Parts: sequence; structure tokens; C-alpha cells
Amino acid sequence: MKPRDLTRYLNDLGWRDPLDLPGEEPNPTGATESPPEPVVASMPEPTDLAGLARFLDGCTRCRLSEKRKNVVVGEGAAESRVMFIGEGPGAEEDRTGRPFVGQAGKLLDRMILAMGFERDQTYIANVVKCRPPGNRDPKDDEIVACSAFLDRQIDFIRPEVIIALGRFAANRLTGTEKPLGALRGKWSHYKGVPLISTYHPAYLLRTPADKRKVWDDLKLAMAKLAESQQSTVDS
Ligand code: URA
Repeated sequence: MKPRDLTRYLNDLGWRDPLDLPGEEPNPTGATESPPEPVVASMPEPTDLAGLARFLDGCTRCRLSEKRKNVVVGEGAAESRVMFIGEGPGAEEDRTGRPFVGQAGKLLDRMILAMGFERDQTYIANVVKCRPPGNRDPKDDEIVACSAFLDRQIDFIRPEVIIALGRFAANRLTGTEKPLGALRGKWSHYKGVPLISTYHPAYLLRTPADKRKVWDDLKLAMAKLAESQQSTVDS
């Protein structure tokens, strides 16, 4: 089932995301009943990244909580101009609670440096915050269970550019099921933020010949960042 179909199905069942602020989604029935109590009733809605991390602590909203060691919320600068979004934590990320710290992370660090940033000047997150066992692909319902958390991270950071790393992030953020080859190198928007998709660093470790394409995508992102800086100077 596609993530958006699953969301619709869960909505039909009356399931409501605890991070869905009242009034965000139009009520399809037009009824004026008050929204159901959030699942985590005692916890206030997070208003910043630190609050979100507390909100996610001990999360059991999907089966990934059963085998994970740490929730890997994300890390980086709250005021970051660029946000990288990967697929989900691997073994090293699960062990440390930090995103992209394994081999793929080392390559991502080099990509970030090549763009002229330090890693801690960017924000790095994943579509799912807990490790899929054995590094399997995240399932649709796991992506949906985590989707409000990723959305809040984007709301809090409001980056100038989002870079989706790999098919899962690209599909989740573009709302399509197109292969990455069809999505990369083209601009779209997510929540009003310019979005570029590119190959995942783990894929590049297996297919180094595609590094050139990733560099082309990163150059598009750098041009967009320069453009947005120029328009701030001009205004
Ligand atoms: N791959 C990802 O997609 N995310 C990580 O955090 C690590 C590896």
C-alpha cells in the first residue's frame, strides 16, 4: 500500500497522529466534533527540535521500536540552510543514536565538505528514526508512523534546500514512486522548501561511477543556496 493510501486508511479508522495539530487537516465530514485525545496525552506538543527529541524518546509507534537500541532523531544546526534526509539508521547509527556515522556517513561528510559546509552547519535526519532490522527497507506503515516527526523537523528548521538521499527519501518527499534515476537532478518542493533528490551515499559506495551525477545534483543545491543568499542581500 502506498504511504498516502495508508494515511487515508488510518484516517478513515479514526487514527490520529499525536503530532497532527488540531485544525491542520480539513475534516472531510465537515463535522465539528472536538479532535480525539492525542495518544501521548501527557506530553505537550513539541515546539522545537529538543522538544521533538523528548517526544520521540521511548517511541513505540511502530514495530521498529522492538529491536532498536536508540531512536536516531537527527542532528545538526537548528538554523541550518541545508537539510539532508536519508532512509533510516543502520547498525552504527542504532548503536550511537546519531545519523550517518557509518561508512555511508563518512562519504556524506565528504559531500558536505565539498559543498563548503561543516557537517554541524547542516541538519541530517532520516525518513524513519529507528533501524529496520538487518538493514531491510523500511515498510510503508513504518514510514507513515514516522512522517509527522520528519515534517516537524522540517517545520522547525525551515532550511533553504532539502537534499533527499536515496529512493525512500525521494519517494516520501516527492509523493511519487518514481525511480531515483527519474527524480534526481530535478527540482521539486516539499512544504514550500526547494527539494533536490540524489543517490544515497551507500549506493555510491557500491557504484562509485555515479559520484559525478551526485556532484552535479549537489552543485544544483549550491546554486540554489547562493541564489537564496543573494535575494536576502538584495531585499
Ligand atoms: N543510511 C541512512 O539512510 N541513514 C543513516 O543514518 C545511515 C545510513
